[in-house]
Amino acid sequence: MKNLLIVLLTLFLLSNVSFSQTVENTVFIDTVSISIGNIKEELVKVNENIYIIQPYGMAGNTGVYISNDGVILVDDQWSMLADRIKELILTITDKEIKAIINTHYHFDHTNGNLAFGMENISIISQENALVRMSQRQVMPTFFNVVQEAYPENAQPSMTFLEKLILHEQDETIELIHLKNAHTDGDLIVYFKNANIYHTGDIFITYGLPHIDELAGGDIYGIIEAVDYLLQNSDEGTKFIPGHGPLSTKKEVQEYRDHLAGLLTIVEELTNEEMSINDIIAQVKVRMDYNHYSGNDFIKQVHRSVQKKPKE
Ligand SMILES: [Zn+2]
Repeated sequence: MKNLLIVLLTLFLLSNVSFSQTVENTVFIDTVSISIGNIKEELVKVNENIYIIQPYGMAGNTGVYISNDGVILVDDQWSMLADRIKELILTITDKEIKAIINTHYHFDHTNGNLAFGMENISIISQENALVRMSQRQVMPTFFNVVQEAYPENAQPSMTFLEKLILHEQDETIELIHLKNAHTDGDLIVYFKNANIYHTGDIFITYGLPHIDELAGGDIYGIIEAVDYLLQNSDEGTKFIPGHGPLSTKKEVQEYRDHLAGLLTIVEELTNEEMSINDIIAQVKVRMDYNHYSGNDFIKQVHRSVQKKPKE
């Protein structure tokens, strides 16, 4: 959490000082990338052919799978980190990158497409994530960041709706779409033989997640997606989160409990027709609440509760 906050603060200072492009409170991706050069990357071995390139700063974890005929990446961070990512991969294999999977459209997981896409590497995503990458996106729930439409060669060239299975020589890789969770185009990647998930931003370790409401994100969808992970795993399953270190099922369960605990309080008080300000105050009395957006996250959860059809 601390690392993320430091980078976010750096990002804000930079954006205030040096950007003529800054309009009102909007942060442009070009602005953000200036602070990216300082990100430290660590290569973490998960098993014989799966690694994580784990950044310390505002970028998502890159999963690295080494197959018999090439490397598959899960998320590719920032274009200005592409050379560093390649250097790290070269320390473990001399095989070429043959495909990149984007877990969702967000810039801190897909901006690397702008570099890797120039090299004719196949990029795979869920269909909704492609739609978002092909159009300008504004993220009011994330500091009003604007993500411009990606050029065609940086957009995924292969998409799917529900599930895609990649059959590698020693591994079966399942790409599974989980609906309206962090966004409307999330996929999780399951390395079946290795029993390892890359969860994208459905599961992160810096506390409470980001719900990209304007892009179809929803608290109920996130909890359902986390339930999918819990129901389709065992004690030996390893989880590569969207951000943060390699985790266990126990940690995913704790994250689920934390989220569900918050939701239960907001649901209960919404049913009592309590005002949003009183709900915010009550949440802070009843649980250990901390979110980078301050009270906005509770307001988002409250909106999800209000939108949910009554049973
Ligand atoms: Zn994200």
